[in-house]
Amino acid sequence: MNFNDYIREVPDFPQKGVVFKDITPLLEDPVALKEAARALWQFAEGLGVDKVVGIESRGFFFALLLAERLGAGFVPARKPGKLPRPTRRQDYELEYGTDALEIHAESISPGDRVLVHDDVLATGGTARAICDLVEGLGGQVVQCNFLIELGFLKGRDKLRGFPLKALITY
Ligand code: 5GP
Repeated sequence: MNFNDYIREVPDFPQKGVVFKDITPLLEDPVALKEAARALWQFAEGLGVDKVVGIESRGFFFALLLAERLGAGFVPARKPGKLPRPTRRQDYELEYGTDALEIHAESISPGDRVLVHDDVLATGGTARAICDLVEGLGGQVVQCNFLIELGFLKGRDKLRGFPLKALITY
């Protein structure tokens, strides 16, 4: 299946000069959705994953499907202040300024084999922050797994050392 056919490029969203990759056509199509979930699952099959961390918010969609199919637990990585119990927080650099993500501190146990999933790998700052968070809690990142890799932004370099898979590369 050519998954690119289900990604829409939206110029000047969310700000001028950005060409946003909209994944909602892929989510809306029952066959593309099923095939994409299966392909992402095949990337991680056999890795012995204990937890899948999905990154707010578009990372949640497939992370949950992956967790269910891998027989793993699902852990949401959320924007600050959204999770009710004690959290671990990681700040990271954006093009302009900084942002932060949190996970429940108890959600990763030492030795857990963790799959990190997000919809898009752009500069890599977001995924890197989550990998650092997971390792800080004693987990092992066994794969970073994306629907889309924007290769020209070199996010892969920021994730050096972590196994990386993407369904679609631009
Ligand atoms: P990074 O930290 O790698 O620069 O940015 C990745 C984060 O920004 C991901 O959480 C992703 O959801 C979001 N993102 C950046 N560019 C795009 C895009 O073109 N399309 C979508 N759907 N998300 C994007």
